[in-house]
Amino acid sequence: MICPYCAQDNDRVIDSRASDGGLVIRRRRECAACHKRYTTYERVEKTHRLMVVKRDGTRVPFVSDNILRGVRSACGKRPIPEDVKVALVQAIEDEVHREFDREVLSDEIGRRVATRLREIDDIAYIRYASEYHQFRNLDDLADELTDLKSRVRNLPNQRDLFPNDE
Ligand SMILES: [Zn+2]
Repeated sequence: MICPYCAQDNDRVIDSRASDGGLVIRRRRECAACHKRYTTYERVEKTHRLMVVKRDGTRVPFVSDNILRGVRSACGKRPIPEDVKVALVQAIEDEVHREFDREVLSDEIGRRVATRLREIDDIAYIRYASEYHQFRNLDDLADELTDLKSRVRNLPNQRDLFPNDE
């Protein structure tokens, strides 16, 4: 520490104690040059943590690896490169951190992942959306399949949907 009296960087700590429930450490210092005493405070930097609210109401910290695991599992052996999966999860992570301040519903994350997967791979999308209960019933699923089928029919070359914009 630079001494506030003589500006020498030559102090020693003569007392150190925690306050505010251990969140703050107060240190009494003495300058070795001018022998004046002063106090410094040390506190933990508050890191902002986004929480995910699950269906049962419990809250867990947002961990992007958990989303990636779900995406990988839905993709299974589909020919989807790993970097596409990672980029998808990264995009979701950026998005929810930008749009949500403290907490986000797990369903909201699931919906966003499903929307993006739908643009990447039909099968992975259906698997993901089924696993994460995006369909309320079989009619829902049937409607979605009809929709996907008509989309593919209207696009002779589906690859055109996914230009290499990495
Ligand atoms: Zn001093």
